[in-house]
This record gives sequence, C-alpha cells and structure tokens, in this order.
Amino acid sequence: MPEIQVNDNRCKGCKFCTTVCPKKCIEMSPTFSATGYYPARLAKKDCCIGCGMCAMICPDLAITVYK
Ligand code: SF4
Ligand code: SF4
Repeated sequence: MPEIQVNDNRCKGCKFCTTVCPKKCIEMSPTFSATGYYPARLAKKDCCIGCGMCAMICPDLAITVYK
C-alpha cells in the first residue's frame, strides 16, 4: 500500500493536507513537534492511495509519498 511520511520539522500544522486528501487519511498529531506545531500524520493504515494531493498542496514540502 502507498503511504506518506510527514517531516515533523517542516510541517507548520496548516491542515491543508487534511482537507485535500480524498480518502481523509490525514489527521493532526495531538502532541506538538520540536518546532512547536501539531504536525500532520497518516491517520489510518492502508488508507492512502498514493494520489499525491497532500504533497502537492503542502506549502512547506513536508510530505513525501511512497507508492
Ligand atoms: S497521497 Fe493522496 S490518499 Fe495518500 S494521504 Fe496524500 S492525499 Fe491522501
Ligand atoms: S499541508 Fe504540510 S505544513 Fe500543512 S499540515 Fe499538512 S504537512 Fe503540515
């Protein structure tokens, strides 16, 4: 299954990725990162279809999609 990896040090918690994901696979972490933001993360295993929308919209280039 495809999956995403979020670089916590780049993510600014804007939530753009959560809104564009067609499968609603992304949620915000309840704990904040070293940089002081609540980073995005994959919410459900085997949810991602590898469409790349989240990586495309992320203004901070924090998401890598693995197909
Ligand atoms: S690659 Fe597509 S399906 Fe996977 S988390 Fe990103 S937006 Fe959602
Ligand atoms: S779009 Fe990028 S910066 Fe915004 S919450 Fe998602 S991963 Fe973080």
